[in-house]
Amino acid sequence: MTDIHSCSYCCERPECIKAQRDEMRGEIERLRAECDEIEAQAVKNCDEVLELRAELAAIEAQERERCAKIADGYIGCDNLAAAIRGTT
Ligand SMILES: [Zn+2]
Repeated sequence: MTDIHSCSYCCERPECIKAQRDEMRGEIERLRAECDEIEAQAVKNCDEVLELRAELAAIEAQERERCAKIADGYIGCDNLAAAIRGTT
């Protein structure tokens, strides 16, 4: 069956045309699966980026509070602590 269509796509024999059609369908199927896989990976990557951003924001907030607490420790630095906390 596979040796039938070793000729070109211009071949007029029905068996060859069918075989080439099936081959193209198979290729389309393969490409579709590949696209789905790439899309799924992109979505996954996007989720990971969002998670990392959230993690980074949490760390930044923690650091900001830590710095503000240090500023709290210095007399006369209320404005600085408030500025670090972003409450001014
Ligand atoms: Zn042929």
